[in-house]
Amino acid sequence: MNILILGSGGREHTFAWKIAQSDKVNKLFVAPGNAGTSKIAKNLDIKVNDFEHLKQAVLAESIDMVVVGPEDPLVNGLHDFFLEDEQLKDIPLIGPQKLGATLEGSKEFAKAFMKRHSIPTAAYESFTKETLARGYAFLESLDPPYVLKADGLAAGKGVLILNDIEEAKKELKAMLVDAKFGTASNTVVVEEFLDGIELSCFVLTDGENYKILPTAKDYKRIGEGDLGLNTGGMGAISPVPFADAEFMQKIEQRIVKPTIDGLKKDNIPYVGFIFIGLIKVNGEPKVIEYNVRMGDPETEVVIPRIKNDMVEVLQAVADGRLNEVTLEIDERSAATVMTVSGGYPEAYEKGKEIIGLEKISDSIVFHAGTKEENGKILTNGGRVIAVTSFGNDFREALSTSYQNIQKMDFEGMYYRKDLGFDL
Ligand code: ATP
Repeated sequence: MNILILGSGGREHTFAWKIAQSDKVNKLFVAPGNAGTSKIAKNLDIKVNDFEHLKQAVLAESIDMVVVGPEDPLVNGLHDFFLEDEQLKDIPLIGPQKLGATLEGSKEFAKAFMKRHSIPTAAYESFTKETLARGYAFLESLDPPYVLKADGLAAGKGVLILNDIEEAKKELKAMLVDAKFGTASNTVVVEEFLDGIELSCFVLTDGENYKILPTAKDYKRIGEGDLGLNTGGMGAISPVPFADAEFMQKIEQRIVKPTIDGLKKDNIPYVGFIFIGLIKVNGEPKVIEYNVRMGDPETEVVIPRIKNDMVEVLQAVADGRLNEVTLEIDERSAATVMTVSGGYPEAYEKGKEIIGLEKISDSIVFHAGTKEENGKILTNGGRVIAVTSFGNDFREALSTSYQNIQKMDFEGMYYRKDLGFDL
């Protein structure tokens, strides 16, 4: 089979690393990819939202399956574009159609879906500029902190958590009336604050059957102790120690099953990954958000723990026979530590040479923002290299990653040294 993976981060390098191990693969392509994917696949210089060029490449390279990494092309309707095209419609694409992708593309849609199917989540109401006064009244009825969420995609910045009621009202107005997040905040979801510990659950579905993948916990803030600005993610561990069998049972019965059943009841076709952002409150799981793709850096710890041939699994998804697959999961823990450019997530420089990667042998090096130029590997983004290791528990896995990061370097390299501090 010839397979095309879309995206250019650590997530896509991990997909490529795993898929390349299958003897079912003939040629593997990544668009646009990075310096890591170029070693195991052919990078195609095409942007993930450039549907016409992707079509040309799929036809020219006789691609038999497309695996979509990021949410953007899905929310923009890439799967629908394939289904509507005579030449592409029979080529399986792993990732939901536009309607299913709305679970991530619109927080109001996701909240209404959860409400309709009695899936536990924070109480909420949503508002537009016409209903601003009702929004103020709803805020008054809540206890602080106040959670305001721009309905649309806002590059991970559209959620505000505020302690002061006057500030919450001011921000609600800024979002609705002054378009603080552009059209993404034409509608704002205001919700109850949930106090607990977060984790992520990943589900793979063919629309009828589903498999729960290993759990993971990521660390979003730039600073140690989970302080400072949000990032794309500074590292992750899998499995999550507090997600024991009893808790997983609750997640499956109350959240995963009703989600898959809800998609069917609502006639929302869905083929691909569902990333369920969860929070454990007084021992009970509640949904914070749905994403319609794998997480990054969670993929870097979840996928390496899956022992199956990934192409067989994805083919079963495409054929609607995921029920025939038995997942085999590595019992060991995995941890990944993300190294980032100095200054990230604010302004940072690119083009710094990365040295020492070849000295790392007992961890897996996944590239994120990297590129190759004249035989050198250079930084090309905020998040640069994820170092994934296995261990008997997450602390052992982390310790191997930390030791191996000592062997590599680039000017301004930063990483968090306290991952797992809250466990
Ligand atoms: P991401 O960047 O993870 O995709 P997002 O912008 O899509 O996030 P959410 O995941 O809904 O938005 O919220 C971002 C973060 O805000 C969550 O990971 C969580 O830490 C916090 N958060 C969201 N909703 C709540 C809530 N109701 N109570 C407490 N914290 C919350």
